[in-house]
Amino acid sequence: MKRELTCIICPRGCGLTVQINGDNVTVTGNGCPKGVQYGIDECTNPTRTVTSIVRVANRIDTMVSVKTESPIPKGNIFDLMEIIRKKEVNAPIEIGDVICDNVFGTKVIATKQVK
Ligand code: SF4
Repeated sequence: MKRELTCIICPRGCGLTVQINGDNVTVTGNGCPKGVQYGIDECTNPTRTVTSIVRVANRIDTMVSVKTESPIPKGNIFDLMEIIRKKEVNAPIEIGDVICDNVFGTKVIATKQVK
């Protein structure tokens, strides 16, 4: 199987060709070694950093922006979004505060301060 991808690790956006033959994965078109790992990961275990917002219970009409501390498997994104959708936090909130701990191998942290 052959896949054409664009590497999103840096703004250069190299066009990658990933050739998969069983366990053998080769990547061409990369401008640096990071593109090889990106191509392999994207075709074998794609992950994404998830960003969203969480309701602040003790502030009217206030949401706090959040993101996963590290990327999670793409297949877990909808389950994580459901957890985030049900979550409420109370202010004050500082950037980096843990909003959800131990979810799909990472944490969800605040990316905004709410006083
Ligand atoms: S392969 Fe390297 S140079 Fe090309 S977009 Fe990816 S990180 Fe940037």
